[in-house]
Formats: sequence, structure tokens, C-alpha cells
Amino acid sequence: MRALISNDDGIHSAGLEALERAARAAGFETYVVAPDREQSASSHALTLHRPLRVVKAGERRWVVDGTPTDCVNLAICRILKEEPPDFVFSGINSGPNLGDDVTYSGTVACAFEGTLLGVPSIAFSLDYRRDRADTPPDFSHAEVVALAVIRFAQETGLSEETFWNVNIPDGRPRGIRATRMGRRRYGESVVEKIDPRGRPYYWIGGSHVDTHADGSDLTAVADGIVSVTPLHLDLTAYHAMDALAGIESRLAPRDGEG
Ligand code: MN
Repeated sequence: MRALISNDDGIHSAGLEALERAARAAGFETYVVAPDREQSASSHALTLHRPLRVVKAGERRWVVDGTPTDCVNLAICRILKEEPPDFVFSGINSGPNLGDDVTYSGTVACAFEGTLLGVPSIAFSLDYRRDRADTPPDFSHAEVVALAVIRFAQETGLSEETFWNVNIPDGRPRGIRATRMGRRRYGESVVEKIDPRGRPYYWIGGSHVDTHADGSDLTAVADGIVSVTPLHLDLTAYHAMDALAGIESRLAPRDGEG
């Protein structure tokens, strides 16, 4: 079995190494294709307006000067085209990808891209807070969790067009459970400052407001429990289709047009 491993923290991330070890412990031959630098919050961006370079960085190891999605796309469509991976594993990210984070996350985008290209995929993130810059993230418990999740995935497989978003609390987890995506709002986290030339500049990110609800990913991780959220490629809100039924009359074909 072959596993493609990528991330958005870059090829030199300790979390990438932890995930490689977990995948190898589960019996996978690991292939790493990762960005040359940190690409966090790059979401599902694909580089279309400049060429991409792929550099061999070791045995079954490549570095790309692009986004996480570029890495997974190039890996599956080009580098590993002749022997496609059985799984894509992304992470382990330095920081959580909970609730709204999912829509910004490069880590989650790797799994999204893998699934789009027909390869079962899992994203792994550690709930590590960057404000504690003096303490590097400890991936030892997360590596054990990743191995357990990977083994479970090998046994059960993943549902069609579905991938797993796994968030691991800091420290030894109290358990693991299936969750749904919660709400985390970054709405008021823009900081405005003045630069040395007197012009304003802006910094996005930092504080956020979580809505804690039963069964959500946020609540599980806050309780010290590993969260596994199944996510689907189809973002359609089926419950809202009926409310849109009347829109067809608003732009009816004019007389004489088909
Ligand atoms: Mn990251």
C-alpha cells in the first residue's frame, strides 16, 4: 500500500515527519510531496499563472514551490501517475482546523484535492496554539492518534466522495469520536496599525469566537477528545433547494427565445 503525504506547513515541518512515521507503522510505503515553505490558510488554491518546479529531495520525497493543492495534484496526476497512492494523508498541521477553519485550511484542502482525484484522504491537525511560540508543538500523542485513525480507515474504508477531518487535542487525548463541523467566527479579528510612513495596514487573524454545540468538532477538542468529522465534496444545501424553486419565474425566456 502506498500513501501520499502532504501538508501546508512545508516540507521541514515536524508534523509531516510524525505523519510519515504513523503511515509507515501502518504498513504504508510513504511518498512525500510537500510545499517548500509554509502555506497555511492557502485553502484550495491552485497555481495557474506561473510555472511550478518540482525538486527531488530524497527517496520518495519531492518539494514543490506551490500550494498544498498543487502538491497533491502534481503528485497524483504526474509524479505518482504510474503507481497512484491508495491514500492521501495531510498534516499533521501545527494548529487546529475546526469549524470555519475548514474553509481556509491548506491541510484540509490536500484531503479535498485527493478526494476529488479519487483517492481516499484524511487531514490531521493538532490543537496547538501559536501564541505559545516558545513551546514547539509536541506531536507524540498526535502520532499515536494518526496511526489508530489510519488503521481504522484501512479496515473500514471511506464513503464515496467523503474525507475525514481529524483534530487532535494537545496532550494525551481522553478519547475519540465522530463529530460535525461547528462554528468558529473570525469576524472581528482584523487589527489596524499605522506603518512608519503613516499609512494604515491590516493584519487578519488571531482571536475567534467559538459556538459550542453538542456533537461538534470544537466541543470534542475542547473536552480533550479527538474529533473525526466526515466531510463531503458536495457542498449543496439540499434543505434549501425548495426555497429557491420560485426563482425560475424571475428570468423567464422572452417571447421568441427558447
Ligand atoms: Mn498549517
